[in-house]
Amino acid sequence: MADALRRLKTILGEVTDIHRAGAVLDWDQETYMPPGGVHNRAEQLSTLSEVAHRRFTTDEVGKLLDEAAATTAKLPFDSDDASLVRVTRRDYDLARKLPPELVAEIAHASASARPHWQKARHEANFALFAPYLEKNVELNKRVAEALGYEKRPYDALLDRTEPGLTTDQLEAIFDELKAAIVPLVADIQRHADAIDDSVLHRGFDPDAQVRYALDTVTKLGYDLERGRQDISTHPFSTAFGPGDVRITTRVSRDFFNECLFGSIHEAGHGMYFQGIGRNLDRTPLWDGASPGVHESQSRLWENLVARSLPFWHHFFPSLRKAFPEPLKGVDVEAFYRSVNKSYPSFIRVEADEVTYNLHILLRFELENDMLEGKLKVADLPEAWNELFKSYVGLDVPNDREGVLQDIHWSFVGFAEFPGYTLGNIIGAQLMEKIRSELTDLDDQMERGEFGALLSWLQEHVYQHGRKFTPNELLERETGRPLTPKPWIAYVRKKYSALYGLKH
Ligand code: ZN
Repeated sequence: MADALRRLKTILGEVTDIHRAGAVLDWDQETYMPPGGVHNRAEQLSTLSEVAHRRFTTDEVGKLLDEAAATTAKLPFDSDDASLVRVTRRDYDLARKLPPELVAEIAHASASARPHWQKARHEANFALFAPYLEKNVELNKRVAEALGYEKRPYDALLDRTEPGLTTDQLEAIFDELKAAIVPLVADIQRHADAIDDSVLHRGFDPDAQVRYALDTVTKLGYDLERGRQDISTHPFSTAFGPGDVRITTRVSRDFFNECLFGSIHEAGHGMYFQGIGRNLDRTPLWDGASPGVHESQSRLWENLVARSLPFWHHFFPSLRKAFPEPLKGVDVEAFYRSVNKSYPSFIRVEADEVTYNLHILLRFELENDMLEGKLKVADLPEAWNELFKSYVGLDVPNDREGVLQDIHWSFVGFAEFPGYTLGNIIGAQLMEKIRSELTDLDDQMERGEFGALLSWLQEHVYQHGRKFTPNELLERETGRPLTPKPWIAYVRKKYSALYGLKH
């Protein structure tokens, strides 16, 4: 029986190696590969993912999982081996439920929809993309049917990305968020003049920005012995194992926030990867608990830490030394206010901390309506614009700045958006618990000390990898399941002070 577990680990180790080799090729494609490499690289990546998939979904792996389960049945729930068998079983069942023909059809549909989405977006003409989105909605439905669900088709898709969460639970959380944010956003709008962020656009030397950002993330705890930072169009983080976790950033001379906050965001993901227990290496457990939990770490470091006043009390003097010209006559308080300016905007990826979740709520509702047949693809732009007006308060000028802005609907991947909002909520829920234990956290940050914070996160979140579902992790480490209340309390307090609102 112990042999089954050993054999299973050998196979999972190989599958992990293949995925990581693919990740290196991906990283290279996004950073240094010449444009001519695109075609061959796509072939290499698809070969590797097919080899990994085939190796993982054999009957043998199913049999070994059954046998290993007998060995681990008496072990504690959180033991490495019991967790490995439990989580791998879930992955295996999901992977086996999708017929290979459907997987191939999805890959093909995504590849052919992409250029039409690009063209439609470029010309701000939704009709060019509509037939492809119709196909993708149908494929999302078929995936939901193949995976199975009790109540709503979205449940099947959500359980794949955020295991254990249901659509109804998420809907209740999102309703609570909406009730709190919509009036707050409107209130901030009425006081928009309270913050002037023109300093951020005064021109910051790009090379100096990249140096300053890298220096800052290492001070927070991102380990350069096991990491590096490069430049890419879309910043991302990736991991090839505990000893090699990389981040990328981008830089703009005319907008300060992009490089520093982008780097800290990716370093948050990176520190999560660097903190996963080495005992879980080369297994399916060596990863973040879910996209939502992963995003909680990037947002926690980016917003709850780096957009706080104590953080800037520590860093502003060195920032002013690095950029004396643009920061002439600016004090720490004014700079803190600038990097926290909130304003309604059309594009999700440019949205601030407060308005961001509204962009996600809208996509969540529309995906559900399309999946459940309540909304026809042809009527989508109108539905988008209507919801956008009621949530964000703006009239969408065209489909490029509206329904066509995200790449997500060009591939078959409904239920990916909620992870972004879950990240905000989970980050705040963890932070509330952290502050109850590290009661002098603000003083520590003012002194530039982030070690106790990082250790807390390593011990309570990072080391566990994928052992627990998001709710299992939160109940275990904060004493209660997922709740938006800490995040709502946090933004209300912070933005009431920033904008002089009465609450
Ligand atoms: Zn992220």
